[in-house]
Amino acid sequence: MSQTRTAAVIGAGIAGTSAAYRLQQEGFETTLFEVNDRVGGRIWSIWKGDFLMDLGTSAYLGTYREAIELVKEVGLEHELAEWTATGAAIRNGKPYYFDYTRPLRTVLTTPYLSPKAKLLAIKIGLQVVKHRKSLGYDSYDDLQDIDNETVREWCRRELNEELLQYVGRPLVSGTWVADDADTSVSLMVWSVRNMLVQNIYNLTSGVVGLPNHLATYVKTRLEHEVTNVTDNGSDVEVTFTAGGQQQTEHFDTCVIATPVEPAMDIYPQMDTNTREFYQSVSYRKLGSICLGLSERPKDPATYYLVPPVEDPDVIAVIADHNKAPNRAPDHKGLLTVLLSHEYLERSEHLSDDDVLDYAVDRASRYHPKVPSTLEESVVVRWQRSVPTIDRGKFGRISDYNKRLDRFARVQFASDSDRIPGLNGGLVSGLGAAKRLSDAAQSRRLTSRTRPA
Ligand SMILES: Cc1cc2nc3c(=O)[nH]c(=O)nc-3n(C[C@H](O)[C@H](O)[C@H](O)COP(=O)(O)OP(=O)(O)OC[C@H]3O[C@@H](n4cnc5c(N)ncnc54)[C@H](O)[C@@H]3O)c2cc1C
Repeated sequence: MSQTRTAAVIGAGIAGTSAAYRLQQEGFETTLFEVNDRVGGRIWSIWKGDFLMDLGTSAYLGTYREAIELVKEVGLEHELAEWTATGAAIRNGKPYYFDYTRPLRTVLTTPYLSPKAKLLAIKIGLQVVKHRKSLGYDSYDDLQDIDNETVREWCRRELNEELLQYVGRPLVSGTWVADDADTSVSLMVWSVRNMLVQNIYNLTSGVVGLPNHLATYVKTRLEHEVTNVTDNGSDVEVTFTAGGQQQTEHFDTCVIATPVEPAMDIYPQMDTNTREFYQSVSYRKLGSICLGLSERPKDPATYYLVPPVEDPDVIAVIADHNKAPNRAPDHKGLLTVLLSHEYLERSEHLSDDDVLDYAVDRASRYHPKVPSTLEESVVVRWQRSVPTIDRGKFGRISDYNKRLDRFARVQFASDSDRIPGLNGGLVSGLGAAKRLSDAAQSRRLTSRTRPA
């Protein structure tokens, strides 16, 4: 008689919940441990007054193929709403709108860039075409030739200052909180392909609808902090604290799906490949300030990219009422102001009220009625938003994934071993589950074929 296999997953972000769901589907009796009192990690959607606010991840982009497939696989399609996004960027304090449904026409006709800059921008398009096979979530091998030059260096060498300040810099800062002096051209090229998309999706319960739903398939234990994981050769011991009590349980396999620092702390046996890779990871800070308004701004933009040269403290302003239906009543508005890593570092001593005042002031540059119509607000100062994607990062991710021990009982998943974000975390989680399931299968086959 075959015995049920068991799995522990540590961390209920998108990486952990997708790993847990897949392991359960593969026949593992799965337990999901989460230190917080909620599922989702950096995905966090709440109702406040009339407003449904996404305080972390903002949306499912049209290019998040794996995430959309999983939404459909688990029967959440009825919750899925598609929206056509209108892009916008600021130059000299003035908004310019981009129609992503007609990218060529938009580039040719927009007054956002000078004719000379538009001609030069063709070079960015050529890089996208050249590297198109590596602009997904699986292999970044072909990006290595552009992974060692920074966006700043490349734009100055190949393009011009205008394209650096109004395309290169805002593209990597407004999407990845990244610094153009530190991050490589590969991220810029990857972002052009994946982030400037016309169709975005969301769920009626907010972005968190997917991880919340995935967690219902498994035994989910909130407010359980895992303090140690030990692979003792025949199974995995998971030690956790809950309600002030420490306990240990045994599982056949385990996925550690936390950010890198807790993963290194709780698993002293971590292999050299993972430890060296995790040691190289740091995170960017990001302020997410949600503002519920009694009056909806008339502006059509869904997402304002704010070039750092225009405002180094704000990376973007999202009009949530233009990103999905029913985020706010029809006549009301909902905005999210994303404050930069540098601003967060500088404002550590300030109170949340001070940060709110600052965000309201900044938002009023684009939507002048914000101060007089503010009804609800939430301030979240994320210490970890996304991993830093510095020069050489694509190469490090490739090397790390090639050297994975696919047969280890303890596997890792997170948004740091892919291009980050919701879809990166999800792909990583599904990958970890597949490795464990394949390894268990091959162990079973080996034991069946072993001579008595
Ligand atoms: C403001 C903001 C906006 C963003 N916008 C977008 C966006 O629009 N699109 C996009 O794709 N991405 C976006 N991101 C990034 C995205 O949210 C992350 O890349 C992704 O959610 C990371 O998922 P994860 O599962 O790897 O990690 P996490 O979500 O951090 O999950 C890890 C979990 O592990 C738990 N944990 C840690 N230690 C322990 C322990 N010892 N025991 C038990 N549990 C533990 C944590 O509490 C957490 O729940 C945004 C992030 C932020 C902060």
